[in-house]
Amino acid sequence: MEPRTGAGAGGDEVQAAALNLKDLDREALRAALAARGHPPYRGDQVFRWVWRRGAASAAAMTDLPAPLREDLTAHARLPRLEATSSHVSRDGTTKLLVGLDDRREVECVVIPDDDRRTLCVSTQVGCAMGCKFCRTATMGLLRDLRPWEIAEQVLVAERALSDRGEGRTIRPGRGRGQGGEVARRLTNLVFMGMGEPLHNFEGTVAACRILTDPQGLAFPPRRITVSTVGLVDRIAPFLERTGVNLAISLNAPDDAVRAGIMPVNRRWSIDAILEVLADLPLPRRRRVTFEYVLLAGVNDEPAHARTLARRIRPVLDRVKLNLIPFNPHDGAPFERPSAARVDAFQRALAEYGVHEVHVRRPRGDAILAACGQLRPS
Ligand code: SAH
Repeated sequence: MEPRTGAGAGGDEVQAAALNLKDLDREALRAALAARGHPPYRGDQVFRWVWRRGAASAAAMTDLPAPLREDLTAHARLPRLEATSSHVSRDGTTKLLVGLDDRREVECVVIPDDDRRTLCVSTQVGCAMGCKFCRTATMGLLRDLRPWEIAEQVLVAERALSDRGEGRTIRPGRGRGQGGEVARRLTNLVFMGMGEPLHNFEGTVAACRILTDPQGLAFPPRRITVSTVGLVDRIAPFLERTGVNLAISLNAPDDAVRAGIMPVNRRWSIDAILEVLADLPLPRRRRVTFEYVLLAGVNDEPAHARTLARRIRPVLDRVKLNLIPFNPHDGAPFERPSAARVDAFQRALAEYGVHEVHVRRPRGDAILAACGQLRPS
């Protein structure tokens, strides 16, 4: 369905042609159709066709009344993204390169693990945050992704999995009975690909709302984790609007070390992060994850573990810690600590009372698909 912008199209028509059926959450889609004179519930119907039934065009939405179908065929579009390449790592991790309409590209990564299949999605082309250890940072920020470009990564990955017959199909119960069952293979989503999700705040909120909608793909919010560099003032509003899990990239025990590797620390200090965390209205048993990239000789000494433990003690009942041994990439001035040092760091944390600690196994690092290695070449 291409927008009609040819000769003779009036200004209004050109404007209307911009209606992208994939770029709106269900509420916005209801409003958009109402504004065109259709009953709002048609928005629900179209939303289900797009996200659950995979309609390729308005013409395929066979149970819509003809005037609505004609209106959408003439004035709306239903774009789609494709994987331009796919690399499978020996550990089963798959990096998908997704081509955007402006010829730019982003990467997303499917990470299989026992019964789980997690997709790591991108929210921006590049990133503005400038973290010294991250490969995406070397691109700078080229642009935000639109909501549909974020959510579409899930459809691209679903298609890749189903082409390979990989993974069990799951059918979230809640969405049943409303225009067909949901069927998908991904179980979890993490917003840890290229970009800073809270820097693309509206895009990421809308994408989360689309992906969690019980009339769409119906991901339970607790199966989605959004990771932020720590844009402190946006954290509470974001959680309020999406209900998903939060991870914060702490990466250092004190402000001196953190500012040295994360420029954002000059604006938002560790104290600011701890303060917002202490006040966050969290659902019962929900915890926020602190990510901590271990960089040899920079932040991986037992003394760092001690400082870190002391620092996070006031919020210990609200957090868990995820240690990520550095994933190397060309030109990065850091090294991954040895397994023994990672162990020692974890033991030191336990000694100072921090027990909920998980060491993230590197996945897909042989194909530059691991944390902090994403950058289309
Ligand atoms: N911008 C977001 C999400 C993207 S990065 C954020 O900063 O949280 C996801 C995680 O990977 C972050 O915790 C980040 O600190 C970590 N990371 C970045 N580069 C890395 C690297 N080279 N090795 C290991 N982890 C890295």
